[in-house]
Amino acid sequence: MAGVDLPFACTCNTLLGTLLGVSGSNGTRAACFCTDCRAAEVYAGQPDPAPGPVHLYQTTPDKVRFDAGLDQLVVFSFSPKGLLRWQAKCCGAILFNTVRSPKVPFASLRTDRLTDTSALGPVVAQAFVRKPDGTQGHQGGSRFVLGMLTRVLPCLLSGRWKRTPFFDVATGAPIREVHIVPKADRAALPLP
Ligand SMILES: [Zn+2]
Ligand SMILES: [Zn+2]
Repeated sequence: MAGVDLPFACTCNTLLGTLLGVSGSNGTRAACFCTDCRAAEVYAGQPDPAPGPVHLYQTTPDKVRFDAGLDQLVVFSFSPKGLLRWQAKCCGAILFNTVRSPKVPFASLRTDRLTDTSALGPVVAQAFVRKPDGTQGHQGGSRFVLGMLTRVLPCLLSGRWKRTPFFDVATGAPIREVHIVPKADRAALPLP
């Protein structure tokens, strides 16, 4: 499926971009309930999503194009090896999560940054759902794995992983210096 191009924007419409070739089969729509995603929103000065999830569309970075305001893009992480959380410094909005290497072509967009999410298809996976007994689990986990195999592998093998707006592919380094949030700052976040 060719899919459609969908514009995305930070809350104040300074950092703008386009998600390319979006369809229900080019990405996985997921809802993540993990504490890191929640902490990232609160750290970024955004509304606390709890008890709800953070809504994501998981795709490959070659489907991401920034169109304006790229100078506002910054990145932070909660640990030296943790997920990269790409944020617009103008308004604080978090737009993407990526892993730390361009050779793992994975990008996850916060779907709240899209004006129209209908092309994304239904939410098929839920991560870190709190069960009635207090433990956490995943639903639709096989869809995550399947998505990785059907999208990430072809992206690697075809060389499309080199088309990423997040990394300098020559060095493998992120295009911005990663701010590692000090543990004390993370611990001080109001997460009741
Ligand atoms: Zn999460
Ligand atoms: Zn903004």
